[in-house]
Amino acid sequence: MKKNISLEETNNVSNLNSLVWPSICKDIEKKLGKDIYESWIKKLNLVEEFKHYLVLSSPTRFIRDWVVSRYLDKILEITKLHKNTVSRIDFVIESDLNTNKGNGLNQKIQKDSKTPNVHFIEDSFVNYSRLDPNKNFENFVLGKSNNLAYQASQKVCEQIAHYNPLFIYGGIGMGKTHLLNAIGLKMRENHKIMFISAERFMYHFVKSIRNNEMVKFKDLFRKSDLFIIDDIQFVIGKEAMQEEFFHTFNALIDRGSQIVISSDRPPVNLTKIQERIKSRFSGGLVVDIQQSDFNLRLSILKRKMNEISKSFSDTIVPDENLLNFIASEMRVNIRETIGALNRIVSFSRIYKKSPSISESKIILKDLLNFAENHVTIENIKKTVCDYFKINVSEMLSQRRSRYLVRPRQIAMYLTKNLTSKSLPDIGREFSGRDHTTVIHSVKTINKLKNNKDEEIIKAIENIKNKILYKNHNEI
Ligand code: ADP
Ligand code: MG
Repeated sequence: MKKNISLEETNNVSNLNSLVWPSICKDIEKKLGKDIYESWIKKLNLVEEFKHYLVLSSPTRFIRDWVVSRYLDKILEITKLHKNTVSRIDFVIESDLNTNKGNGLNQKIQKDSKTPNVHFIEDSFVNYSRLDPNKNFENFVLGKSNNLAYQASQKVCEQIAHYNPLFIYGGIGMGKTHLLNAIGLKMRENHKIMFISAERFMYHFVKSIRNNEMVKFKDLFRKSDLFIIDDIQFVIGKEAMQEEFFHTFNALIDRGSQIVISSDRPPVNLTKIQERIKSRFSGGLVVDIQQSDFNLRLSILKRKMNEISKSFSDTIVPDENLLNFIASEMRVNIRETIGALNRIVSFSRIYKKSPSISESKIILKDLLNFAENHVTIENIKKTVCDYFKINVSEMLSQRRSRYLVRPRQIAMYLTKNLTSKSLPDIGREFSGRDHTTVIHSVKTINKLKNNKDEEIIKAIENIKNKILYKNHNEI
């Protein structure tokens, strides 16, 4: 099952100095442990080997994303020990491979039969950023922060060269590439598309100069109807490179082609780019994607969860509360929000249960930035007392009235669940009670919850939400 990947590096060395993938796997297993190896790495296969990179296949996108987010660094590190020229690992999805079976490896032009107008590879030119069928308009979730960019992208598809160029900017993981990709997907039936990252553009430029292939370079990049260039902030090359880019840009505009650009900052802040290029960028429509809000993140999570459950019928779907937790805490960017969900789902798959909030905090520890700072014992005590309308001093007292006992037990239970404090520590924080009292409290509350005591369940959810998500609407 070999994917027919044309070569970007002309020196395919798969027959020389070949890697021994099984022995790399053994080392990975030693390093990451059997569980992780069996769950994830074992499912990957070596498809093709080049001098500077490997192509591995993954059965699903989900596994690929998981491996990439968690283990790719380690895999690369170990691979390098076997072959030090390897600097990168790429992935293909097995179902995609199957549909491409039968193309010759050394084909000069590889075109997907469904997408005759998309230039993937021509001679040694590889367009690295192939259109990803999973990033389309249909699954792009709309919110306040991305609505404008979405509408503008739609407009480009309806009326080519109306806004030219369309310049979309925003921070990392906000959905820029997703939108660019969606435009490419929608337009590829009837238009010649070039979809490339600025980095790859530079790479081809440098390589073409070196190989005396500038005519070919110009030809390739100037004949598209829709030229989509991602992450333009990486065009930081020398004058000659910018010169070429400027001419490509002008040639495309003259020919009536649509240009779509993404960047992590607005044109004026592209400090390393020539003024005249910047002013060209600003000449069309400039739109930004802003920080997502809680509701958008929650909708994206729900949608993702739906997709995952459709692909894996045995998926354990996290409850609403857990999704709220992820949406509320993973707010830096959408990629991270989705990454967090993937981890939770993976945990559920391995342990056959959905993690609790406190387990999730451990699973997502490196991604969370709240650092438990608003989950203090003081805050828990206060929130519990506010909810039950009692004083903190009353709750901490030795009195055994029922109206004080339950809140006290709930406060201890929440402290145990939401903080990393030990049982004796918690006892000390509650007027020097013994750790067995803490255990008893936790057990009592768990029992009530298990017996579906609605009042207790409601109280706990409510208080927990107040403690954990009180910063909901900050962004
Ligand atoms: P950027 O290019 O801005 O760094 P991406 O387009 O790569 O970000 O988005 C990161 C991840 O988040 C991708 O998996 C993308 O599909 C997803 N994503 C971003 N915004 C949305 C959205 N509005 N709806 C659905 N998925 C989104
Ligand atoms: Mg991107």
